Amino acid sequence: MKTISRENVIYSMSAKNKPVEYANPGEQLLFETWDALQGQIKSENDEFGSLDWDRVNPATGPVYVNGAEPGDILAVRIDRIDVDDSGVVLCGKGMGVMGNHLEAVASKIIPIQGGKAIFSDKIKLPLNKMVGVIGTAPRGEDISCGTPDAHGGNMDCKEVREGATILLPVNVPGGLLALGDLHAVMADGEIGVSGLEVSGQVLVTVDVIKGKKLPTPMIRNGSHMMTLYSDADLNVAADMAVANMVNYLEREAGFTPEDATMLVSLAGDVRICQIVDPKKTVRVEMPIAYVGRVK
Ligand code: CA
Repeated sequence: MKTISRENVIYSMSAKNKPVEYANPGEQLLFETWDALQGQIKSENDEFGSLDWDRVNPATGPVYVNGAEPGDILAVRIDRIDVDDSGVVLCGKGMGVMGNHLEAVASKIIPIQGGKAIFSDKIKLPLNKMVGVIGTAPRGEDISCGTPDAHGGNMDCKEVREGATILLPVNVPGGLLALGDLHAVMADGEIGVSGLEVSGQVLVTVDVIKGKKLPTPMIRNGSHMMTLYSDADLNVAADMAVANMVNYLEREAGFTPEDATMLVSLAGDVRICQIVDPKKTVRVEMPIAYVGRVK
């Protein structure tokens, strides 16, 4: 199995990034990843003033997947996520939903023990380990790893977790997959501007889907198919995530536009992934039992 060292970091998804590894469809890869601050905050005394903002949101990669051509879909199954034994959560003035309410920047180093994040003596949070940044290279302009868009990127979606398969567009030959920004714990919204940011390792299996037009990015797991959409305007993100699910039901499951709309209205949960990144991300979750499963 190939290991992609976290020495291979990128700060933007770009067609110009040189592949650091090549993989065949069906191959398993281990990505070593930094936390979103690239390990710069090691204690609660570390000053944010000294933070190097050019070294935030690093992703490990990119990997060239052999045979992946523009128009194909890259399917990335998350087999396992391992996180380090502590992470950092932060909030502060000018950041996140409460940025107008807060007067300073605060961070908290949170130990991870026995599958729990130790927020305080009384509050021990069960982990929901997830991958914040996962994407392919866009066809046009480079996109910062801090921004989510049609190529994936910083979607900060808690459904990008063990057992899920992320479907991403292939925009350039090989796809150029990169990922990072693990969170040990995060709630929908990520309202304070961060999850429990943590370094670690992600084991994935890559595959290529040929000849399918899907409204990527999508996620499938054992129970649901999900569409995702990112936009600076949360209303637009929600409307487009819904439209992509309706479109998926029409194309893949043969529903009329009216039936697809009614079914999503009855059974499709519209949920917020995050509302704090340069573009906000919404997902729509439909039970596979009603809509079928791709591949
Ligand atoms: Ca993130």
